[in-house]
Amino acid sequence: MKEIFLAKEGEIALKGLNKKTFENVLMKNIRYALSGFSGVNVSRAQSVIYIKLSDGSDYNAAYERLTKVFGIKALCRAALCEKDFDVIKTAATSYIRDRAESVRTFKVEAKRSDKKFPLDSPAISRELGGYILEQIPHLSVDVHNPDLTVNIEIREEHCYIHTGNIPAAGGLPVGTSGYALGLLSGGIDSPVALYMIAKRGVKTAAIHFEAPPYTSERAKLKVIALAKKIAAYTGGVRFYCVPFTAIQERLRDGLTEAGEDGYFTIIMRRLMLSIAEKIAQKEGFDALITGESIGQVASQTMGALSCTNICEIPVFRPLIGMDKSDIVTIAEKIDTFETSSLPYEDCCTVFTPKHPRTHPKRETAEKLQDSINFSELIEVALTDTEILNIRPD
Ligand code: ATP
Ligand code: MG
Repeated sequence: MKEIFLAKEGEIALKGLNKKTFENVLMKNIRYALSGFSGVNVSRAQSVIYIKLSDGSDYNAAYERLTKVFGIKALCRAALCEKDFDVIKTAATSYIRDRAESVRTFKVEAKRSDKKFPLDSPAISRELGGYILEQIPHLSVDVHNPDLTVNIEIREEHCYIHTGNIPAAGGLPVGTSGYALGLLSGGIDSPVALYMIAKRGVKTAAIHFEAPPYTSERAKLKVIALAKKIAAYTGGVRFYCVPFTAIQERLRDGLTEAGEDGYFTIIMRRLMLSIAEKIAQKEGFDALITGESIGQVASQTMGALSCTNICEIPVFRPLIGMDKSDIVTIAEKIDTFETSSLPYEDCCTVFTPKHPRTHPKRETAEKLQDSINFSELIEVALTDTEILNIRPD
């Protein structure tokens, strides 16, 4: 039996005049997600996108890819047949035969978009329901709470048979909402933050600060692995790796001299954001992203967040009001949790002060930062930044 995916649009369906632009990007992203499959044919009608592959293609693998395409609210894998009621009866029965083995009740739900089809929706449900009862006698009909729903959609070209929509990635198609640079550590939070912004249609790149030899190659590979997980949703992630050791050492020494070790993390974060903003301006990113959440750690108290609020371009913090447990739930869903939990050091943790300031003052942070000369080291770090283009597997 021929198969097809029907992808139901989410928020795009609510768009006005620019709906077509969103749909075109979504179709392009679907084709890109399925590059590597043969015979990919993507078309659209009435807020539904039809996705066909060559016969014999691995529909399970394609389904996996499609569940990560933002802009698709629900997906269904359907069988497709001719719009002839006798053909539909046979096709629908054979489509559900295996699935019906473990269930007792069913109903037929018919939708007739092609009004030229001779039977209306109630008649299709009634007649097909009767036929299925004859063919699979252990089933009975339950219209209110069935174990299995057999959906029949009579559309323009074909009849589609399926057992329901499955929720997909949601959001808006990547590439419809600008370009942002996310500060990606190896932790649990920042990959989730990048995912959440990408889900709103933002093409997302990543910037990581490393501090070799304090941080290892394995720690960097872990962050690259996380970027790869995000790339599965975005099609690819441009990855900037900034050598941060010399800057951190100078900061540590300068603060020790001033007797203000407690400001280390705050000023380090200010430096990270300022370097990220410089790269953003040079490379054309519209915003930055961080994984901060109010009160989660000493460097994310309200006071600390105000000290690090230094950028001119917007800094998106999608996790700002979320509990850790909710962040972990998303990390598990997008399969970053396990990788994030690998116990490699991050540059943030290597010089962590014994007593970080939980009520830092912005003027003090500014004054301390100004008293230490970072400008040349920042120039060197920018020149030595490594850039990789990370593709999904
Ligand atoms: P995460 O789980 O994302 O590491 P966290 O709870 O450990 O977050 P912090 O270490 O305080 O929090 O970092 C706050 C934010 O700063 C991170 O979410 C990330 O956006 C950014 N950040 C921290 N360390 C780095 C790094 N080495 N490279 C790039 N960004 C970083
Ligand atoms: Mg961290």
